[in-house]
Amino acid sequence: MKGRWCAAGLMLGSVWAGAQGSGPPAAGGREIRLSVDLTDAPRKMVHATETLAVTPGPLTLVYPKWIPGEHGPTGPIDDQAGFVIVARGAKGCGAGGAAWVKWERDKVEMYAFHLTVPQGCATLEMKMDFLATAAPSGFSAGASTSENLAMLSWNTVVVCPDGMSAADVRVTPSLVLPSAWQFGTALKLSAEDADQLCQKTECRSLHFKPVSLETLIDSPVLAGKYFKEIALAPEVTPKHFLDMAADGPEDLELSPEHVADFSRLVRETGALYQSRHYGEYHFLVTLSDSVAHFGLEHHESSDDRVAAKTFVEDDRFVLAGDLLPHEFTHSWNGKYRRPAGLATSNYQQPMEGDLLWVYEGLTQYLGDVLAARSGIWTPEQYRGMLAQSAAGLDNWPGREWRDLQDTATMAQVLYNAGGGWDNWRRGTDFYGEGELVWLDVDTTIRKLTDGKKSLNDFAAAFEGLGGNTAPKVVPYTFEDVVAGLNAVAANDWAGFLRARLDTNQAHAPLGGIENGGYRLTYAPRPNVWSAMVEAQSETVDFWFSLGLRVNSAGVLGDVMKGGPADKAGLGPGMKLVAVNGREFTPALLRAAVHETEGAGPAVELIVENTGYYKVVKVDYHGGERYPVLERVAGTPDRLEEILKPEAAGK
Ligand SMILES: [Zn+2]
Repeated sequence: MKGRWCAAGLMLGSVWAGAQGSGPPAAGGREIRLSVDLTDAPRKMVHATETLAVTPGPLTLVYPKWIPGEHGPTGPIDDQAGFVIVARGAKGCGAGGAAWVKWERDKVEMYAFHLTVPQGCATLEMKMDFLATAAPSGFSAGASTSENLAMLSWNTVVVCPDGMSAADVRVTPSLVLPSAWQFGTALKLSAEDADQLCQKTECRSLHFKPVSLETLIDSPVLAGKYFKEIALAPEVTPKHFLDMAADGPEDLELSPEHVADFSRLVRETGALYQSRHYGEYHFLVTLSDSVAHFGLEHHESSDDRVAAKTFVEDDRFVLAGDLLPHEFTHSWNGKYRRPAGLATSNYQQPMEGDLLWVYEGLTQYLGDVLAARSGIWTPEQYRGMLAQSAAGLDNWPGREWRDLQDTATMAQVLYNAGGGWDNWRRGTDFYGEGELVWLDVDTTIRKLTDGKKSLNDFAAAFEGLGGNTAPKVVPYTFEDVVAGLNAVAANDWAGFLRARLDTNQAHAPLGGIENGGYRLTYAPRPNVWSAMVEAQSETVDFWFSLGLRVNSAGVLGDVMKGGPADKAGLGPGMKLVAVNGREFTPALLRAAVHETEGAGPAVELIVENTGYYKVVKVDYHGGERYPVLERVAGTPDRLEEILKPEAAGK
């Protein structure tokens, strides 16, 4: 995932412990028919009807809570509505073969419903709506529909019997769409008709082949009126598709060059991983300003939600350039190879995120490298991104109390955190700092083996284990990672990794940049990447000078603890009103910071905070400073080697 959550139900431990295996199916209850109607999705409501075979007696149903790839209990049960159950069967089932069933929520586990199936009844017919009313923020529980499109995450509209392995529950899904809508998904269509599912005249009814509940939840559907599918790298088998839905047709018109970039991405993953673990792969890209923006990985697809103009404006394309390579990489690293603590058998079992610096950190590293190898980024753009990320982590005071390991272990909470003093709290730093650690690993292997081996060899062996396979999960532990690295180049990898994971030293691990032939330094002008970020985000970055970030309206996004702005009494959320006596503009502040260079005057600010005003002087005299990677002459340029395309034919 690119881009939340609380203590898991303690009382459930013993229940799940008994549910881990793939023993013989319990009598009944494992066959689900699930029909979802998206015709009201533009009005932010999704309707579902679920039929479940059951036997009479007590039954507990659960709504998916821990969502794969989100690494936390993010199932959007707050947006469930209209959940009603009717039991059906022969005459003995209620009056005339049907009985209304009253459910009762568990008093501790909010995702569990207790009920009793009446005698004589054989199936439950359940109605459920999902209210797609969430704000366009967060992850898959965030906004997912607009007037002309919808992204369906099946976990939002299904319940299943408690205690089962998701692999053992068989679901036959069907979907009703507005008639003008097309769709993309990794699910296989079995039939399309206008049968009874389609109660409105203007709709189409799709029937998919039966799959396990695990595969269903791993296979979202993107549908919309303005829709386009492009085959990528058509010479490669298995097949890859770029499926796009947009709010308007103009946003689907990406250039042939960008299509070529994505085709090269497909080829580069073949060269890197030497394997594929899917039957077909679909990038499901939502181009809309009305939905949440993030990416969520699946075995055979990815849910990639970006701003409407991402594929038609060059700067946006570059700034979002890591998303598809990142989510695609997860098909190998995250879905196929998965940390044991995240390889849970159902959606109620709590996840352990301690190896997310591999799951997400290695994906961040390889995804970014693939973006450069594919031509989505130039080497200069990659270096600019890396400089910005590394410098941020190198000026991040929270690392002195929270180590990198804790950011991963606490990920299920930290995904939800933010809003100021983030540099003191720390967030999900296992992405960016994990990337630095894996760059360090890659360049160390290259150094140890005199360039004969690299992290490419680890990726091919570790992620490509077993060659081409169908989707499945092969779990790993910390020891497996260490053994995999030692198989490429002998080293004290456990010590190497733990030293970077468990340290509270003030500086970020920059060894990979140095071994790569570069040095992190500061220049008076933003690098090519930082300049694009500033323009797109409408923020100005004085992090490495005054120790603050401010948006175009003057509101402080964050203030570096211990930095000049902090010492002057500034804090996140305050608003800059004036700079040296004149009404604030970003350009004025930039000019004032420029003037501070070499014992120049301190910047005087008038600041508003919750209705109160004050004048502060920021005691800083270093001029403008923005991060940049500087080539160290006379050293091997390993970074350039790393970014070179690997695929034959490129
Ligand atoms: Zn990810």
